[in-house]
Amino acid sequence: MHEMGIALEIIDIAEASIPAEMKDVQVESVNLRIGKLLAIVPESLTFCFSVAIKDTRLEGAQLNIEQIPVVAKCKDCDNHWTIDEPAFACPKCESGSLELISGKELDIVSIEVMDEDHST
Ligand SMILES: [Zn+2]
Repeated sequence: MHEMGIALEIIDIAEASIPAEMKDVQVESVNLRIGKLLAIVPESLTFCFSVAIKDTRLEGAQLNIEQIPVVAKCKDCDNHWTIDEPAFACPKCESGSLELISGKELDIVSIEVMDEDHST
């Protein structure tokens, strides 16, 4: 299970991206995009995240995960397709010469913070 390591990495990045002058801000949610090739179980990552954010600036934040399908491109015929199972050959020309275009992403798309009172 590598979800805990990933959760810690996300927390590091997210904490680092909160501006210093917003140190008292309450982070509402962290929106994440992960490639399916990383074989992360979203429920497991969400659980690790909720445990690991205790006593950090992200405490109480929600983790929203969007999974990115694995897309391959055939180097021989330029066909693009989505891989649902480990069958690494072009379905069109059966070439095994391919390139993975997506599926390895681990991106924090955005971090949402609670609206503070701006009534001044
Ligand atoms: Zn092909």
